[in-house]
Amino acid sequence: MELREIGNDVYACLQEDRGLGTSNSGLVNRGGGLVVDTFWDLPHTRQLIDTYARVWKGPASRVVNTHHNGDHCWGNQLFSDAEIIGHRRCAAAFAKESPATMQMLREAAGSASPAIAALAQALAAWDFSGIELHPPTTLIDDELRLDLDGIRVHLRYVGPAHTAGDVIVHLPEQRVVFTGDVLFRLCTPIGWEGTFERWIAALDEIIALDPQVIVPGHGPLCGVEGPREMQAYLRYVRAEAKRSFASGLSVLDAAKRIDLGPYAGWTEPERIVFSVERAYRELRGEPFDAPIDVMAMFQGMYELRRSQIFK
Ligand SMILES: [Zn+2]
Repeated sequence: MELREIGNDVYACLQEDRGLGTSNSGLVNRGGGLVVDTFWDLPHTRQLIDTYARVWKGPASRVVNTHHNGDHCWGNQLFSDAEIIGHRRCAAAFAKESPATMQMLREAAGSASPAIAALAQALAAWDFSGIELHPPTTLIDDELRLDLDGIRVHLRYVGPAHTAGDVIVHLPEQRVVFTGDVLFRLCTPIGWEGTFERWIAALDEIIALDPQVIVPGHGPLCGVEGPREMQAYLRYVRAEAKRSFASGLSVLDAAKRIDLGPYAGWTEPERIVFSVERAYRELRGEPFDAPIDVMAMFQGMYELRRSQIFK
C-alpha cells in the first residue's frame, strides 16, 4: 500500500494492481477528514487506516463510497463513528454482494470446477470473515457539496456507468478527481449495471473537470489520458461486439475473436467478457440493470484465459 500526497492535505492510498479487489482510496485531511472508499476486507482496511494514521490528526469523520462493490466499501465498519455517504442507488444495491458467499468462494480451492478453483486462488489474499455491511446513510441524488475547512469537495452522480450508483469526488481548487471504478487505469474494466453510452459520458464529465491528478478505482494515478484511453477501449469493444452479434457469435466466441491491440497489455484482458456481454444486452434492448449471470461471466473469463494461453 502506497500513500501519495496529491494536493495540499489531499492523499491517495494506492494498492498495486494485482487483479481482483486491489482498489484505491483517498483522504481529504481537513474539516474532520473525509475518506473516499474503504477496502475489500477488514485486514486490508486496517492497513489503510494505519497508512492514513501517519498523516491524519484523528479518524476521519466522513466516508464516501463511490459505489456498492465490496472492494470499495466492505471496510466501512472500521470507521465506526463516521458518517457514510453514497448515492441512493449505491445504498439500495449494498446487499447485492455477500461477504459470506465471497468467503465460501475463497475457500473453494478444491472445487471440481476449474473456473471456481481459479477464482478461489485469485481470492487467496483476502479474508472476508467478520464483515458487516454498513451502507451509506447520507444519500446523494445528483450532487452534494462540502466545504472541509476551505477545501471544496463536490460529490457528483455520474451513473449508471460502471454501476447504478456511481459517484465521483471532485476537488476543484486542487484539480483532483477520485473516480471510483468509473475509471480503471491500465487494467481491463468490468462493468455491472450501466450502459456504454453513460459510461463514456461519465468519462467525458471527468475530462471536462480538467483535473491534474486522477485517482482511478484501480491502477496507478493518471491525468486525462486515463479516461481518454478507457473511452477508446469501450468504443472499440462495443463496435467489435456489435459485428459479432450481427454474425450470431456467442459472447465467448466474440471475446475470443476480438484483437485487443493496444489494450492487450492491460491486466486481466479476459474481463472483456463482461463488456461483450454488456454490448449484447444493449443490442437485445435489455435495461441497464438486467441481471448478470456472474458465475457464467467468471467461467467465460476462465475459458478465454485458457484459450489465450494455449493459442
Ligand atoms: Zn473496484
